[in-house]
Amino acid sequence: MNTSELLNALGVPSSAFTGGSLTVRSPIDGAQLGAVHEATAAEMTAAVERAHAAFLQWRNVPAPKRGELVRLYGEELRANKANLARLVSLEAGKVTSEGEGEVQEMIDICDFAVGLSRQLHGLTIASERPGHRMMEQYLPLGVVGIISAFNFPVAVWAWNSALALVAGDTCVWKPSEKTPLTALATQALFDKALQRYIAAGHAAPAHLSQTLNGGAAVGEAMVDHPKVALVSATGSTRMGRAVGPRVAARFGRCLLELGGNNAIIVTPSADLDLAVRGILFGAYGTAGQRCTTTRRVIAHESIHDELVARLDRARAQLKIGSPVEPGNLIGPLIDKASFDGMQAALKAAREQGGEVSGGDRALADTYPNAWYAQPALVRMPSQTAIVKHETFAPILYTLKYKTLDEAIAIQNDVPQGLSSAIFTNDVREAEAFMAASGSDCGIANVNIGTSGAEIGGAFGGEKETGGGRESGSDAWKAYMRRTTNTVNYSRELPLAQGVKFDI
Ligand code: NAD
Repeated sequence: MNTSELLNALGVPSSAFTGGSLTVRSPIDGAQLGAVHEATAAEMTAAVERAHAAFLQWRNVPAPKRGELVRLYGEELRANKANLARLVSLEAGKVTSEGEGEVQEMIDICDFAVGLSRQLHGLTIASERPGHRMMEQYLPLGVVGIISAFNFPVAVWAWNSALALVAGDTCVWKPSEKTPLTALATQALFDKALQRYIAAGHAAPAHLSQTLNGGAAVGEAMVDHPKVALVSATGSTRMGRAVGPRVAARFGRCLLELGGNNAIIVTPSADLDLAVRGILFGAYGTAGQRCTTTRRVIAHESIHDELVARLDRARAQLKIGSPVEPGNLIGPLIDKASFDGMQAALKAAREQGGEVSGGDRALADTYPNAWYAQPALVRMPSQTAIVKHETFAPILYTLKYKTLDEAIAIQNDVPQGLSSAIFTNDVREAEAFMAASGSDCGIANVNIGTSGAEIGGAFGGEKETGGGRESGSDAWKAYMRRTTNTVNYSRELPLAQGVKFDI
């Protein structure tokens, strides 16, 4: 199937991806895939108003009934997994198994959210007053505005919307302007699930989920709208710096999932075979375009040279090519700006004393309008300015350490705080790494790499990564408002803290 046929099969009419002003190109070969309508700020404002009207009804639907809609959405995803994954590959350049993995994450979070729809619980708390009971409830919050990045074009929406919908919220989505087609397909599958839900006799308002394509200006109209109770924004730290203060200025809630600069520490006791595999996927999988990509290896001086030599040999063997052809592991960068950013980082690394292997343009003859790059490995003398910067490309910097304290200090000495890992067979080192004085990241792993998180845990990071948590554990609480209720079932009116106010 070509892209148009794929989109039609996923329920997107041709009129939705032809004739618009937003040109969509495949990073695989630069070919035009579609021309999508770009929403205006006024259209975004109207969408938020519709979403708010829908929220006023949806919040009254019992949560397990809301969960049934998400269950049906999960069924649509299961039935359409291969087609949606293929579209992810065509539009975002992910190799087939990673495109499929992304859709699997959507399915997994739907399953999680369905179970959660019967567990949105608060506490019962002992009251200090006789004949009183205290409790807390989690109630629906409002409209959730979702802003997403190009590199997880469909999963990020699902992480947010599956939880938001069971929480009783409604969603408005502003996807990346680089990946509008996968967004249209995701929305079309949702619309199908909603139709089935209504056909089965469930009441549901229209506009539970809406998708509006466009760039930052459309996003800003959402960010500034007072009826968007929560803005969940995934993307660069630059974007978060623009969005966070605007939402705070109107006292809205923000959930920020921003850039990472993730490191793996490899200690003398580590299983090097395991470490090499973990680092290779972490650094070069998805062509280095994951927020959790391994960007730094911090290796003990006793094993550094052997580890780095093995990594460099394996790096040079990774097969670069079209992500939809079997056997290729490294697909293209998303666009020329990304390739230029990679070259600028490598130049800076050389100037700062780095020794670069790889990193040149690849397959330029076969794909003159696409941007493939050889994965790069850079031996750095120390953690210089360029190493502290997130370059969204397959560059792995390697560094040496002498003591574990020094390794942890290097690992933490960057502005970002998303994911981290240690490879060690020493339980003391592993525990020290995860302790309060260890890794300062939201994710700290032992003997697995930095990327590829499961949906069951809360996902997100500290410092310039933004502090948000999405997906599993109790991340659902961000999508609800908490009320504390004190009920007096006595015939007296005692005041708290023993205060007297008698007439
Ligand atoms: P980006 O910041 O360029 O764009 C992300 C989204 O923000 C897009 O939809 C864009 O249109 C929108 N946007 C940009 N400026 C805006 C503004 N002022 N107001 C409202 N919306 C605005 O990021 P990208 O290049 O698409 O993605 C790569 C970045 O995303 C990397 O830094 C990566 O680490 C990060 N990322 C983080 C996570 C995470 O969970 N922490 C996940 C994926 C990607």
